[in-house]
Amino acid sequence: MVSRTFWVGGNWKMNGSVAAIKDLATTFNAGSSPSDVEVVIGAPFVYVHLLSESLRKDWAVAGENCYVESSGAYTGEISPEMLKDVGAQWVILGHSERRSILGESDDFTAQKCVKALAAGLKVALCVGELLEEREAGITQQVVERQLDAVIKVLKEEDWANVVIAYEPVWAIGTGKVATPDQAQETHAAIREYLKKAISPKVAEEIRIAYGGSVNGKNCKEAAQKPDVDGFLVGGASLKPEFLDIVNATQ
Ligand code: PEP
Repeated sequence: MVSRTFWVGGNWKMNGSVAAIKDLATTFNAGSSPSDVEVVIGAPFVYVHLLSESLRKDWAVAGENCYVESSGAYTGEISPEMLKDVGAQWVILGHSERRSILGESDDFTAQKCVKALAAGLKVALCVGELLEEREAGITQQVVERQLDAVIKVLKEEDWANVVIAYEPVWAIGTGKVATPDQAQETHAAIREYLKKAISPKVAEEIRIAYGGSVNGKNCKEAAQKPDVDGFLVGGASLKPEFLDIVNATQ
């Protein structure tokens, strides 16, 4: 059995300021971070460069989105190449806030994955169901549909540079965390699906992180689940408590 390096991502969303980011980087830089845990912080575009200059070098920086072209007449958009140029190694794609608030489709998200990977960024690909979809018993169908759009356009080897973040939308920013058993059940089902839809190798090796109201207290139990390979953390990644989540497996 392969051992998957535990992955902890922060997603600052549209939060932060020059002063706040410098403060937070100072706190994170002084904290303990196990050498066998990979840590990535997603910041708003305008702060990616500052964060990459301020943050400890054993952690990586992510953009929270990118466009599907390298440059050109796309006012207001940011390319994967630009993210790399200012120090990002990762990009978060398909976050539910982009899917629901900005109306971004499965296929558009998939095109972003192709472009970001081609530019040499690693991708944290978010998938997850709405509350009414969970209640209707179609969680797996929704997640498979979101994944299928990406499976269709990536090559098998591309998946080595992807982490899947399973983020039930009803648990994001609501304080309603999925139970460790709920997370484990969906992660195991995703892995099983990837086995058939891509290959047993990708299914075995890919990290599947859980996101949705993870905090310093609830992270430890979920981190013990065999198919929970990390976390994507919103609110708590803006607080010193993020270090407790980075240390969840210790
Ligand atoms: C997120 O934004 O990806 C997220 C999981 O947010 P929160 O941890 O605040 O629920």
